[in-house]
Amino acid sequence: MHENFSLKPYNTFGVDAEARYFTEANDVEQLKSAVNFAKSESLNLLFLGGGSNLLFTQHFDGLAVKINFKGISEEVLNENSVLVTAKAGENWHEFVMYCLEKNYGGLENLSLIPGNVGTSPMQNIGAYGTEIKDVFASCTVLNLETLEVETFNLEKCRFGYRDSIFKQEGKGKYVILEVKFKLTRKDHSIKTEYGAIQAELDKSGIQNPTIQDVSKAVINIRQSKLPDPKITGNAGSFFKNPTIPLAQFEDLKLKFENIQGYPNGNQVKVPAGWLIEQCGWKGKRIGNAASHQLQSLVIINATGKATGKEIFDFSAEIINSVKEKFGIELEREVNII
Ligand SMILES: Cc1cc2nc3c(=O)[nH]c(=O)nc-3n(C[C@H](O)[C@H](O)[C@H](O)COP(=O)(O)OP(=O)(O)OC[C@H]3O[C@@H](n4cnc5c(N)ncnc54)[C@H](O)[C@@H]3O)c2cc1C
Repeated sequence: MHENFSLKPYNTFGVDAEARYFTEANDVEQLKSAVNFAKSESLNLLFLGGGSNLLFTQHFDGLAVKINFKGISEEVLNENSVLVTAKAGENWHEFVMYCLEKNYGGLENLSLIPGNVGTSPMQNIGAYGTEIKDVFASCTVLNLETLEVETFNLEKCRFGYRDSIFKQEGKGKYVILEVKFKLTRKDHSIKTEYGAIQAELDKSGIQNPTIQDVSKAVINIRQSKLPDPKITGNAGSFFKNPTIPLAQFEDLKLKFENIQGYPNGNQVKVPAGWLIEQCGWKGKRIGNAASHQLQSLVIINATGKATGKEIFDFSAEIINSVKEKFGIELEREVNII
């Protein structure tokens, strides 16, 4: 157990916040004893994966526990399906690469997302037309009140767009221990219609892409437009894409004819990046925080010296200006501590 421990290497924003106590859990027993310590000392708990979806706006006055459980196992279900189980502390991208090496399909569009497997259900991670809910079988969790292990199936996780029970009523109540995915062994469903995947494949002259080709295309696209957190602190998209009523979208279209939207019934999803850009934020810097020059949805620690409060205040200014110009309230995707 460490005291007054710097979390700078444990969050991809590179913010220098401290935890009053810090420990690592390599298995469920170590996790339980950390939880019991926190209970006996009346300390708040914070669980850490890769720290790629967190912003520390202050020091954490409690016990931070880094979840390090490792291990991957498989169970062939039939000719075309396999159930792959990964422990929470496995790195997400390495897990995707492991599955691709075995030619297991379903996760290729989610290549190169930072973070750990155990955190992937928290916000139902998604990219390029795929979300984990599409291949999710179940996860096991530790109930922090009873210290019992429970299983959550797809329905119980209540996945939504960048959302799940773990961000809503289950917030702070469970630690995810491992996740099971149902993947394909041969009849893979290849998804190339989203974003620039098809264009990227065309560039390489690939006509009948494999899941490995799709993964490579996704990696190339991501590397060309997203800042690498090892070089520039960030947590990916800072905001969710807002969903607004169709009537509001039609009113906005009269005023802003270039506004983009993806209709879904009576609702329309509007790209937050476009809204932010229209308010003049792309590439703009205030103090040590900035909006990324290629992707305005990403807020960066521009100098490496930004405090979490500075980044938070920067995000608040963006929210205010989008609200003023479009009447749309942006919601933060990043977990604020
Ligand atoms: C460059 C970049 C690109 C990104 N692109 C995408 C993208 O395309 N799609 C996408 O969905 N996300 C994206 N993200 C966000 C991020 O990678 C994901 O949200 C990822 O799942 C976070 O994992 P993590 O392990 O780093 O979580 P952390 O930041 O460590 O934790 C996130 C939250 O989960 C809690 N938590 C951590 N571990 C556990 C556990 N075992 N049990 C319960 N709670 C836990 C934490 O307390 C915190 O509240 C991106 C981030 C970056 C930096």
